Amino acid sequence: MKSVPTFCRVCEPSCALVAQVDDGKVQRLQPDRDHPVTRGFACHKGINYLAIHQDPDRLDTPLARQGDRRPGQGQWQPRSWESVTDDIAGALKQIIETHGPDAVAGYIGNPTAFNALGSQAIGEFFMGLGSRRIFNPAPKTAPTSLPPGRRYSAPAPCIHCRISTTPTAC
Ligand code: SF4
Repeated sequence: MKSVPTFCRVCEPSCALVAQVDDGKVQRLQPDRDHPVTRGFACHKGINYLAIHQDPDRLDTPLARQGDRRPGQGQWQPRSWESVTDDIAGALKQIIETHGPDAVAGYIGNPTAFNALGSQAIGEFFMGLGSRRIFNPAPKTAPTSLPPGRRYSAPAPCIHCRISTTPTAC
């Protein structure tokens, strides 16, 4: 069994964890008592994250609904990432051709904070589409709680790129 330092990606503290790895598979997650910041703290969500990762109901592939679309009706069929991506691209193209690029909007949630390239890639994607509409929860939940210069700290659209929510990010 190998001990591998890692961290919990569920929320902002990014609590330090130690993964016990055997034969390339994580067997257990524990708080990292040697970490200088979180010093052995991790809540039940971080420590039990393996249960979510290994849950048999966890989605590992796209599912597309077939037939009746009412709640509880129809069938969910596994699809390849390629075919689902093609479908989404076709639907976006149709919307943009019919209503213009601002008819497409994005909503960035908490997980992008833990993906170094995620928010940049999302910005590029929407700029490529020509849409100026990207939203995040900051105006509703954290308009003033983050220091200036932090991403998502200002609820107003950037006057330069009209996409970022803060001028310092463009
Ligand atoms: S262990 Fe708990 S408090 Fe720490 S990052 Fe994960 S969810 Fe958040």
